[in-house]
Amino acid sequence: MTQLKYSQYDKDGKVICQLCGKSYQRIAAAHVATHNMTMEKYRKLHPDAPLFSIKFQAQTKIQNQSNKKDLFLKQQNATIEKVSDEDKEQFGASVDDLDNLQKEM
Ligand SMILES: [Zn+2]
Repeated sequence: MTQLKYSQYDKDGKVICQLCGKSYQRIAAAHVATHNMTMEKYRKLHPDAPLFSIKFQAQTKIQNQSNKKDLFLKQQNATIEKVSDEDKEQFGASVDDLDNLQKEM
């Protein structure tokens, strides 16, 4: 197993190009060509990198049973940092309180 520079899939299950880190429905030869590379070279360089998005694989029913591990990775990568709405609300409330205080003064 080789170490990949990027995740195999993004949070939407799209396949990530190991050369530029952008996500696509599939790694197309035309796209790989923009990196001055061929599909053959790409596959050789990144044997563990998938060439199709999870959705695309399901749709085309590609006979490849090694993707359960990929799905697991996808779930791990789906942990996105969330901006806390509670913090915003608390901040808003404290600003209002300050206004009220100033009026009272
Ligand atoms: Zn790319």
